[in-house]
Amino acid sequence: MNYFPLFLNLHDQHCLVVGGGDVAACKIRLLAAAGGKITVVAPQLCEELVQAVLDNKLVYLAASFNESQLQNTRLVIAATNSEEVNRHVFEACEARGILVNAVDDPASCRFITPAVVDRSPLMIAISTSGGVPVLARNLRAQLEALIPHAYGDLAKMAADFRDEVKSKLLSVGARKQFWEKTLAGPIPDMVFAGQNEAARRALSESLCADADTPLQGAVYLVGCGPGNPDLLTFRALRLMQQADVVLYDNLVSAPILDMVRRDAERVYVGKKSNNHAVPQEEINQLLVRYALQGKKVLRLKGGDPFIFGRGGEEIEELAGAGVAFEVVPGITSAAGASCYAGIPLTHRDYAQSVTFVTGHRRDGEVELDWPRLVSPTETVVVYMGVAQVGKICAQLIKHGRNPDTPAAMVEKATLSKQRVVVGTLSNLAQKVVDQGIKPPALIIIGEVVSLHDKLKWLAD
Ligand code: SAH
Repeated sequence: MNYFPLFLNLHDQHCLVVGGGDVAACKIRLLAAAGGKITVVAPQLCEELVQAVLDNKLVYLAASFNESQLQNTRLVIAATNSEEVNRHVFEACEARGILVNAVDDPASCRFITPAVVDRSPLMIAISTSGGVPVLARNLRAQLEALIPHAYGDLAKMAADFRDEVKSKLLSVGARKQFWEKTLAGPIPDMVFAGQNEAARRALSESLCADADTPLQGAVYLVGCGPGNPDLLTFRALRLMQQADVVLYDNLVSAPILDMVRRDAERVYVGKKSNNHAVPQEEINQLLVRYALQGKKVLRLKGGDPFIFGRGGEEIEELAGAGVAFEVVPGITSAAGASCYAGIPLTHRDYAQSVTFVTGHRRDGEVELDWPRLVSPTETVVVYMGVAQVGKICAQLIKHGRNPDTPAAMVEKATLSKQRVVVGTLSNLAQKVVDQGIKPPALIIIGEVVSLHDKLKWLAD
């Protein structure tokens, strides 16, 4: 993070703007909207600012900048077209600890100003840390289109009810649950339709009804896909933003974890194939315990929770304990790897079926139903197979699959570091060693792998 984001209360605070042109006028409009007491210092003013002075909206010093003008000033914007003056203003402010911004000159800025979507009291600020302001503006335009104007009314109504909610619902958890339920229900739509009074009445009634209901915990078993955050479902994202506590393992990538509500408690329960960090039984019990405390528990799983994810075991325990739960599918890594490597898992000319198997060993051996996996029109995808790739390929050959059958290993599928190694059943294992492929990776076996060269759209 290059900048610390914050919203500043400028009510009745002295702000100095150096410069009297259009750029200064634009900044002054924002400062005035935030309630700042503005002084402008410039040899002359543009028309808009002349009018603002006449309307007593700002104080005008018809002069050049000098340091004595900084007395009692909270914040300064240098909007002149002289880099030298802007620099002088910056240095003078830095010496006094005053917040300063020189427009379009990051080297002379202590703070920068974001692109803003204003639905006061709701504000959305977007910044590219000064890198590409146009990108921030584009995003702002999209958000402007997406967020109804009445969102501000909704935020205001919620703020008006804050004290009443606090007095009726005593715990933080109960209040959070109340707002989540209210904001997911029909009340926002009433506000967006302009029925503010009806919305207020409905909110008041549901508050009275909620006051005596005890907190309800629940577990959300959520698949978050192969690691690329763009492949999350909307449902996953919504639940990630409501969770009180999140239990995650090592397949959940850092950018995805970053999207979980900031103040949710994070519990790492990762396991590696031979090193069970937290035993499964303990994870199952943790889920139950948190839910019984009335918490919204998010159990984040790589890929899909019901494909080699032990999701079934986890919810069996929940069902037994009478805890409410929901299961949200995710894109399984085989689907992610297939699309991002340009290897369709089925294809009318090459493969009529696909089988997902695990290469995880039980008692030292990979135990698969080999004769079922050797048909030339079958695609086989092996999860957790990196360490055993040699043995798996050898078994398939032994049971009759052609040694020249194309086979690929896809490492870190869908992520920016994805690598694809292509070979055949007879040489894939050696290539995997030569290239130093590490988990997480999937093996794809079958004629469809020969399409990779033609259909790949990412570099290997
Ligand atoms: N539930 C998960 C699978 C968990 S088993 C899913 O549906 O994808 C863990 C195995 O998944 C890893 O050993 C690896 O084989 C595979 N895997 C998970 N993420 C992957 C990724 N980004 N790239 C390649 N393989 C991945």
